Amino acid sequence: MYTDIDVQLTDEHRAIQAAVHRFAAGHVRPAMAELDAAPAADAVLDPDGPWWRARREARSLGYHLAALPQEIGGLGLDPIGLHILIEELGWGAPGFALSTLADSFPAVAVLIHRPDNARLIEEIVQPFLADSEARLGSCVGLSEPDHGSDALWAFTREDPAGALALATRARPDGADWRVRGQKSAWVSNGPVASHAMTWLTVCDGDGTSRGGGIAIVPLDAAGVSRGPVTRLLGSRDFPQCALYFDDVRIPADYLLVGPDRYEAATDGFLNVGGLSVGIAFTGLARAAFEAALDHCRTRVQGGRPLVEHQAVQLKLFDMFTRVEAARALSRQAMRYCFVPQARVPIEYSTAVKVYCTQAAFEVAHAAVQLHGAAGLAHGSLVERLFRDARGGLIGDGCNDALALKRSGDLIRHYGT
Ligand SMILES: Cc1cc2nc3c(=O)[nH]c(=O)nc-3n(C[C@H](O)[C@H](O)[C@H](O)COP(=O)(O)OP(=O)(O)OC[C@H]3O[C@@H](n4cnc5c(N)ncnc54)[C@H](O)[C@@H]3O)c2cc1C
Repeated sequence: MYTDIDVQLTDEHRAIQAAVHRFAAGHVRPAMAELDAAPAADAVLDPDGPWWRARREARSLGYHLAALPQEIGGLGLDPIGLHILIEELGWGAPGFALSTLADSFPAVAVLIHRPDNARLIEEIVQPFLADSEARLGSCVGLSEPDHGSDALWAFTREDPAGALALATRARPDGADWRVRGQKSAWVSNGPVASHAMTWLTVCDGDGTSRGGGIAIVPLDAAGVSRGPVTRLLGSRDFPQCALYFDDVRIPADYLLVGPDRYEAATDGFLNVGGLSVGIAFTGLARAAFEAALDHCRTRVQGGRPLVEHQAVQLKLFDMFTRVEAARALSRQAMRYCFVPQARVPIEYSTAVKVYCTQAAFEVAHAAVQLHGAAGLAHGSLVERLFRDARGGLIGDGCNDALALKRSGDLIRHYGT
């Protein structure tokens, strides 16, 4: 177990840390190594395979309920407890950590946006709370083949004419909505989810755009199909595929957010997403640093362990500093960005996403270098961490695009 010098941690925090770390070391890491070695991209779909075994185990421990309040059966973690859980799962495998959190998005979104809607509580929230078998899970369908980074600007004050409107559209049909369109091949959890949080253009009956919306689309509804599992450089622990919606009928209530609240709701989602990704990749950075330190303690070159060479010592110290800075920034941001009902200071969570994923990439890169050729060998831990870390700079928004988007907020808000 590593050193965590945060003097504000309670005994409860330390207990969560130890328990989740045991799970990450004993189940997540070995399962994701096995998955990563499987030749076929769709190995993740095997119900008896490593990914599903780890997922069911996480369910039995209740980790999918981490972001849900205790009053309704959630874990009721405070922001720092949640940070610890995500970092430890991320240490095991960041994609698996994010997959576990993503599963709860429909339930969390209902509780935030439609807490008094009895139908949604009964059909979305309660079944998820009771789902110890991991039958229910979720993904986020925001990006589309023609809307990658620019989806960040769609329907916001920076796009007043609606030129960036999403191609996935919902039209009224009696008491329901009909959804038509396609999400990109990069929808994480897409192959394994039962529901998709779907970003779309809300239209009138004649097809005229009214603005943006966010809907829950059950993926077993008629007209939904999925593309094959996408093979990326890494991130197999958070598997991707495209989603196709061919006139999918959803009940009116399932359109959770309409044009009036679209921008604020999307910012709220990006806030939680940015923090979660940053924290999960802080876990990856720590895993890479620890692997490098272990290796350098035992690998002998020039008659001495690598740790006795000064150039190696400098590199290890730089890695350690980046890990600690990533944790300090993300933990502090959890304290002020994860407060329900408060104005979301989203530039802080974006800073967390951008800084921590960049730190993870640099630490993983250094860890590969310190392992020499062994760090490039398929099956080595740092080789996998390096591939996963690369995806962190693009998933949940390219870091450059996120920084550009939030610099506008920063200039508007800072010091005012
Ligand atoms: C691991 C992973 C997981 C993902 N998971 C999901 C998911 O769950 N759901 C989902 O909907 N999508 C997901 N995505 C898609 C992701 O959101 C997009 O890949 C991302 O937003 C970038 O879009 P793009 O790939 O189309 O790249 P583009 O938008 O085409 O960008 C290409 C390059 O141009 C740069 N660029 C773009 N616009 C600007 C600008 N205005 N100014 C300066 N530079 C710019 C970018 O920084 C980037 O370097 C995932 C992607 C990855 C890699």
